[in-house]
Amino acid sequence: MSLTVVGSIAFDSVRTPFGERERMLGGSAVHFSLAASFFTDVRVVGPVGDDFGEEQIGVLEGRGVNTDDIERIDGGETFFWRGHYEYDMNVAHTDDTQLNVFADFDPKLSLAAGQAQMLFLGNIQPELQRSVRARCRETEFAALDSMNLWIETARDSLKSAIAEVDCLLLNDAEIRELTGEPNLARAARATMEMGPKVVVAKRGEYGAALFSGDEFFAIPGFMLEDVRDPTGAGDTFAGGFLGYLDNRRAAGDSPLDHEVLRQGMAYGSVLASFNVEDFGTERIRSLSRDEIDDRLRQFRRITHFDAEPAST
Ligand code: AMP
Repeated sequence: MSLTVVGSIAFDSVRTPFGERERMLGGSAVHFSLAASFFTDVRVVGPVGDDFGEEQIGVLEGRGVNTDDIERIDGGETFFWRGHYEYDMNVAHTDDTQLNVFADFDPKLSLAAGQAQMLFLGNIQPELQRSVRARCRETEFAALDSMNLWIETARDSLKSAIAEVDCLLLNDAEIRELTGEPNLARAARATMEMGPKVVVAKRGEYGAALFSGDEFFAIPGFMLEDVRDPTGAGDTFAGGFLGYLDNRRAAGDSPLDHEVLRQGMAYGSVLASFNVEDFGTERIRSLSRDEIDDRLRQFRRITHFDAEPAST
């Protein structure tokens, strides 16, 4: 069982209607790996600067995440993102992005990282995603996430990267933007024609929709009364989803099996619902597997839908 992730390792400064925080640990690879660590062995690949210390490494290692492939660039600064949310917390407003050590990062994958059977190419420059994909020759199932920045500034590279993976995870708005197709079902089909067999459209608090082969499955978001910071919810969803898929893959099941994908979607939703309860990685750091499974049972009761056609 092993899952390698490449993506941003970041400091995030975030303002929401419920508070603000400066330079919290964040980044797509961080949120992803903390969530996936509940189900499988995770290795993070990515660069950090001198400002990334033992405290940050300790958060990842505290959840058993392997950090051997985190590369410290002497004299460099860690990726930085500043953003805010209005009352509609489905939309992140970016105020500042500093790529810093990611600007000319050339990943040196360890043998173990390159041998992972499962790979997640988290949100980062598409050429970097492609270079990691090319080096993971034993990967059986690769998934990719991206964002509007790369759709707008590196569209061709991004399309090439998408063609090289089995699964694409994007926000519904990003799938529409990438394909120029306003209808989500048609847009998802168009992205499947680019290569991936599975497409997951993340829909913020409304949940997520899965397209695989001719099958379609949608899951609602878990309704919460206290949402403080949605940063990282998408990556946390992806971590729960792919972490679970890798766990089942290691047990002999196919990650393309519809039942496995549906259960992965449920775990992804549950993990994301915990992530938004507090700022940054706070909630996931203190989470237990029992809490996850309790919420999954609750979620099952809520989403259980067995209506039969009425006779009148
Ligand atoms: P999400 O799961 O979509 O909320 O992603 C949130 C994370 O994405 C934050 O922790 C940021 O550090 C990271 N992020 C924001 N912009 C970028 C970018 N341009 N490239 C890579 N990561 C980013």
